[in-house]
Amino acid sequence: MTEQLVNEIRHALAASRSQLEYLSDLGIESQKTALPDLNQFQERLEMNAALEETLDAIYADMGDCQRCGLVVSRTKLVYGVGNPNARLVLVGEAPGREEDLKGEPFVGEAGRLLDRILLAMGMQREDVYICNVLKCRPPNNRDPLPEEVMTCEAFLIRQIAAIRPQVIVGLGRFAVHSLLKTKAPISRLRGEWQHYQGIPLMPTYHPAYLLRNPEGKRDVWEDMKEVLRRLNAEGDGP
Ligand code: URA
Repeated sequence: MTEQLVNEIRHALAASRSQLEYLSDLGIESQKTALPDLNQFQERLEMNAALEETLDAIYADMGDCQRCGLVVSRTKLVYGVGNPNARLVLVGEAPGREEDLKGEPFVGEAGRLLDRILLAMGMQREDVYICNVLKCRPPNNRDPLPEEVMTCEAFLIRQIAAIRPQVIVGLGRFAVHSLLKTKAPISRLRGEWQHYQGIPLMPTYHPAYLLRNPEGKRDVWEDMKEVLRRLNAEGDGP
C-alpha cells in the first residue's frame, strides 16, 4: 500500500468518524449501525501500513507533531522507550509534568513505582517497551479529549504493530478504555485477558492510582503474575 493511499484512507476515516460523532450529537444513533466498525478498520489499516516500519521510522513520521492542540502546551513529545523487540509493552495514559520536561514516559513518582513492579517481575525498563496513548501532556493533566486520542492512537497502533509484543499491559482506566473502546469500570476489567490488535492485553490499575490506593497493589501483583505466566508459556520463540 503506498503512503499516499494510506494517508488518504486515514483522512477518510477521520472524516467519517467526525460525521458519526456529529450525527450522534444530533441523536441520530442508528447511522452507526449502517457503517463498518471504523475502529477495527483503522486498526487493520495501521497494522498493514506498519508491517515494514521500524519504531525509528514512525518517530520520524511524527516529527515535530502539530496534529492536535496539545502542541501549544507541551514541552517535549514523549514517544516511548525501551526494547524495540520487547515481548511486553506497557501502555499508560499520557505524559505528566516530569515526562513532558524529560521527553520520557513514566519518569515521575508513578514511574518509579512502575520500575519496582517490573523489578518484582524480574525485568527492567530496558527489557520492555513503555509508551502512552497520548504522546503529549494535556494541560494541567486534564483527561485527554476524544479527538486527541483519535489522532494519536494511529501512532500507538503503528508502534505496537512494529514491535509485535507477546503481551500488552494497559495501565489504568483511561488507557484501557481507549485501547478497548469500552467504558466498563477498570475494577471489573482488570485481571481478565482482553485483546488489542490480536495481542493478549492485561488491564490493570495505573501506578498513580496505586500511590493513592496502596491496597490495589495486591491486585496488580496478581495481574502481573498472570502476565508472567503467559510470557513463560509463550517462550522466546516468534
Ligand atoms: N502517567 C502516565 O499515564 N504516563 C506517564 O508517562 C506518566 C504518568
